Amino acid sequence: MYMVTVSVEKCEGCEECVNICPNSVFKMTDGKSDPHQSSECAFCESCLGVCPSGAITISEM
Ligand code: SF4
Ligand code: SF4
Repeated sequence: MYMVTVSVEKCEGCEECVNICPNSVFKMTDGKSDPHQSSECAFCESCLGVCPSGAITISEM
């Protein structure tokens, strides 16, 4: 199981992670990405590849 976190300071609100995640981990909240379904992450790494600011961190639990 993976835990996904987004740095509010680094997130630019581009929504790329919301659009690319196959498991709907992210939604937008107040213009920032919110990994509200972190437990659904399959560690495909797609979001890490598209995020322009390195705002996403994924760790194994
Ligand atoms: S690694 Fe893949 S499944 Fe996990 S949050 Fe990123 S895009 Fe979604
Ligand atoms: S891809 Fe990165 S910068 Fe864009 S909304 Fe997601 S976390 Fe924020």
